Amino acid sequence: MLFRNQYFFKSIFNKISEGIIIVDEKQQIIDTNLATGTMFGYQKNYLKKKSINILIPEEYHSKHKIYFKDFLDEGQNKTMGYEQNIHGVKSDGQFFPIEVSLTPFKIFEKKYVLVLVFDISFRVNHERSIRELNSALENKVKKRTAELKATIVKLEKENKKRIKAENETKNALIKEKELNDLKSKFLSMVSHEFKTPLSGILTSAMLISKYKNPEQQDKREAHLKIISEKVHFLNGILDDFLSVEKLEKGKINYMPTKFMVSKIVEEVIYNANTQLKEGQNLLYPEEIDGFALYQDEKVVELILANLVNNAIKYSHEDSTIVLKITQDDLNTVFSVKDNGIGIPEKDQKNIFKRYFRADNVLLTQGTGIGLNIVKHHVENLGGSISFESVENKGSEFTFSIPNIAVYEKSLTY
Ligand code: ADP
Repeated sequence: MLFRNQYFFKSIFNKISEGIIIVDEKQQIIDTNLATGTMFGYQKNYLKKKSINILIPEEYHSKHKIYFKDFLDEGQNKTMGYEQNIHGVKSDGQFFPIEVSLTPFKIFEKKYVLVLVFDISFRVNHERSIRELNSALENKVKKRTAELKATIVKLEKENKKRIKAENETKNALIKEKELNDLKSKFLSMVSHEFKTPLSGILTSAMLISKYKNPEQQDKREAHLKIISEKVHFLNGILDDFLSVEKLEKGKINYMPTKFMVSKIVEEVIYNANTQLKEGQNLLYPEEIDGFALYQDEKVVELILANLVNNAIKYSHEDSTIVLKITQDDLNTVFSVKDNGIGIPEKDQKNIFKRYFRADNVLLTQGTGIGLNIVKHHVENLGGSISFESVENKGSEFTFSIPNIAVYEKSLTY
């Protein structure tokens, strides 16, 4: 019976596919099953009486000795290789990954350890290939993500370019429309502004030819005066157009010189007096004798004349226009106040736009150029212009310029 039992256990011992090693307390191998020989590459019985170290990598021999002793003293089951990597050494010196389960036991007061060895090469290789596959996959994903990002960046760039091109086209279209609007405004304004004086000139010329008697000289002169005034007027409009053209192309060369403010005021007042309507009164400052400017004299005169002429043009007969001038260390401020027709509130924001004319002046001659030129000049001289106006009450235009030109003499605008 004993023999049969021994045989039975021995054949199970050898059939088990895991390695079974019995070790004594000196770490000497007492017995191994067949699977251990196959796993570590040794013939049957070769391992008997050999130290267990033969199956352990050399670098662990000394550590293992201590562990083994502690383990025997504790007398507890133990597993190795689940959490940390451990290796067995084959007869040809090759390492292979293993898991080990250790069971201490005692027979006749002698301590032994039953070592169960699992060859986990397959699992480890499998895990490694999964890891490699994973990292290959991750790399691929990284590469694709980078490619995608690059494509997105490219698309975004192209989109920005497209939007920019679209905006440019839009702006060009808006500009073209503005230009067309200006052109048509300009044409209707030119035909109106030129036709009226031209037909006046024609009528006067025709009438002159009819006054043949010497005593009709005063009539001829009256018509000659009308012709001269209208030619003057047309000339003024053409000058305005040329100024706009020059300002637009930056062709104006400002030439600052030192001059007295009173000099240009006298000039402006002298010309304005010829334009005053019946009963209109132009008040001007008298205490300006000490005011000097270092600016472009002709341009400052043109600005002031424009504002005074507008005040006359857009005020009724028997009204008063007041010109005021003040000066401090830095600036000179001119203001022209009338109690004329004023500017409708809705038109005030457009008043400095070229060719713009308010709704309430359409029966009065004008081009809508003057204030636009004035504003450009004032700003080019380093100053600023503003106005206050109430319809049917009056307007006050004020501009301020530095006493000393801020631009260089040679600077071309
Ligand atoms: P124009 O007098 O030839 O029409 P401007 O550029 O000088 O052109 O003036 C533009 C517009 O501003 C005028 O058409 C008018 O509507 C308004 N305006 C300018 N000055 C006055 C003023 N003193 N009173 C009322 N409206 C004015």
